[in-house]
Amino acid sequence: MKRLMILLLTIAVLGAATLAPADSKIKVVATLPDLADMARHIGGDLVDVSSIATGVEDIHAVPMKPSFATLLNRADVVVLLGLEAEHAFLPALLEAARNPKILRDGPGYIDCSTSVEVLEVPTRIDRALGDIHPMGNPHYNLDPVSMKEAARAIADGLGRNYPEHRAVFEKNLETYVAELDKNIARWEKEAAPLKGKKLVSYHPDLIYFAERFGMEPFGTIEIRAGVPPTPGHIADLEESMRKNKVEFVVRELHYPAGLAETVAQATGAKLVELPAMVGGVPEAKDYISFIDYNLHTMLKAAGASS
Ligand SMILES: [Zn+2]
Repeated sequence: MKRLMILLLTIAVLGAATLAPADSKIKVVATLPDLADMARHIGGDLVDVSSIATGVEDIHAVPMKPSFATLLNRADVVVLLGLEAEHAFLPALLEAARNPKILRDGPGYIDCSTSVEVLEVPTRIDRALGDIHPMGNPHYNLDPVSMKEAARAIADGLGRNYPEHRAVFEKNLETYVAELDKNIARWEKEAAPLKGKKLVSYHPDLIYFAERFGMEPFGTIEIRAGVPPTPGHIADLEESMRKNKVEFVVRELHYPAGLAETVAQATGAKLVELPAMVGGVPEAKDYISFIDYNLHTMLKAAGASS
């Protein structure tokens, strides 16, 4: 099935190859809109950036389309979250794209996770358990401090491929990181009312966000990353949530509403609905407004003004 998918994607690439437009801009393909936004800031006028996933999708289940293989065929660099976050679509698309520059060992493969302090790195990898976070938790895009490392990786990666523009990328990086730092200082101040508060989320993708803003990730509706809940798991979770006074249930918007609502009602916790990527709600139009939206929505749920 996978072979057939790659073959079909490859045919699409070959068919489109002759239609490639001549364009002098550096073609950057990011896997998610958060990284696309950063690549635009760092590349400025020199780059033309697209994103494979949209903010409303689940990064672990982005559907493959022939147009993505074509996009990657023409790409100069690919920018990814890494840690196998893109396992559902990127390896097969890269194989179909027939573009050696952006293969895993190629110069145009920019893995943004290389300097990130990764949380929840497993001591034992057992794929039979169905874990979809084999390299540790890949959802560091919800932590603005970790994303400074991603911004640096993008600037370094672009500079490695286009040394003639390195000074421009470095300068744009400096400006962007300064902007992020200013906002991080504000966010950390604003987050004070959330200190020590416990949250349960549907999937373990709020870990970095929670730790950054002093909250305690208490558990997930899923049994493990990618392993759907059972009635027994939900009953145990609800019981320990009540005992430990968990205040929030976060439903990431790409997960079903019903169960998260039920868990919140059964335990007296507040239901908070958050996007997991830029573009997941109209307000989260870029990376800074995305963190703004999530933090302010959480603060509102906590009854704190924002
Ligand atoms: Zn995940």
